[in-house]
Amino acid sequence: MVTLLDTLKDTRPRHPEKQHRPDQPVLKKPDWIRVRASTSAVFTETKNIVKENNLVTVCEEAGCPNIGECWSKKHATMMIMGDTCTRACAFCNVRTGKPDALDPDEPENVAKAVAKLALKHVVITSVDRDDLDDGGAQHIADTILAIRATSPETTIEVLTPDFLRKNGALEIVVKAKPDVFNHNIETVPGHYLTVRPGARYYHSIRLLERVKELDPTMFTKSGLMVGFGETRNEVLQLMDDLRSAGVDFLTIGQYLQPTKKHHKIDRFITPDEFKSFETAAYSKGFLLVSSSPLTRSSYHADEDFARLRLAREKQIAVN
Ligand code: SF4
Repeated sequence: MVTLLDTLKDTRPRHPEKQHRPDQPVLKKPDWIRVRASTSAVFTETKNIVKENNLVTVCEEAGCPNIGECWSKKHATMMIMGDTCTRACAFCNVRTGKPDALDPDEPENVAKAVAKLALKHVVITSVDRDDLDDGGAQHIADTILAIRATSPETTIEVLTPDFLRKNGALEIVVKAKPDVFNHNIETVPGHYLTVRPGARYYHSIRLLERVKELDPTMFTKSGLMVGFGETRNEVLQLMDDLRSAGVDFLTIGQYLQPTKKHHKIDRFITPDEFKSFETAAYSKGFLLVSSSPLTRSSYHADEDFARLRLAREKQIAVN
C-alpha cells in the first residue's frame, strides 16, 4: 500500500494548483548568478547522512543554487513535517497538496543527523501545515528539544511558517527556546496577493513582533526576495516595518524562477543594488544584514549567527 501511494505521489504534478497558469518566460541568468556544482567527498557524505536518516532538506526541495557550497561544508537545512506544503506560494518549488501524517520519529532522526554532521549551528525549516490544529508548532518544539538533548552546544535557528489562524502556536515554539526565530516576510505587501496569496503581510510582521514580546533576548530574523517587480521605496518601507517589529537580522536575495509555471522574474537586481540595500538596512538599525544575489535565509547561517551575537554584544557595550 505504501509503495502504491508513493508511486501515485511521484506521478502527481508537483504543483497541481499551477498547472492551469500560462507559461512564463524563464530569463537567462546573468553572470553574477552562476554557481558551480560540487563533487567533493564532504558533499557526498552530507548527502548520505541526509538519505540514511530519511531527512527532507530545503536545499534539495527548493532547488537551492548554493547546495554545492553548503553541502561541501556539511551545512544542510532540514525541512521537517514532510515534503508537501499546504500553501501555494507562486515562487516556491516545494511540492504542494495534502501532506502525510507527521512522523513521530522525525525529531529524533533530525537530532541524530545534527550530531553526525557535528553542526555548530543548525537551521530547521518546515513546510506549512495548515491541516494541523497547531500548524505543527509542537513538532517544531519537539525537534528543538531533541537537538538540545543530543547536541547541547549546537545553536538552533528555526525558520517557521506564519501560524495564521493557529492561536497559541507561536508561544509553543518560543517556549522551546530556539536561539534564532526566523520567519520570512518574502516580499513587499503590494505583491502578497500574487506572490504569497495564502499569507497576510501584517500578520507576518506581527508574528515577528510577538516573538520579541514573549522573549526579548531571542534573536529574530526575516528575509525577502527581490526581483518580483517591487520598487526600491517599497523595500525601504518593508525594512522600516521589520525594524518596528524589532527584527535583528535581515536577509535579501534574488528571486529565481523554479519553472515556467512559477511567478516570473521581473528583473535581476545588480550586486551594486544589493550593496545599497545593505547600507540602507544597516542605517535603519538592523544588527546584521546579508544582501547579495545568492543570499538565502540559511546561507552562511552559522558564520552569521556568530556575527549576530557579536553585534549584539557591541551594541550592549555602547549603550
Ligand atoms: S543556502 Fe540554505 S537552502 Fe541553500 S543550500 Fe545552503 S543551507 Fe541549503
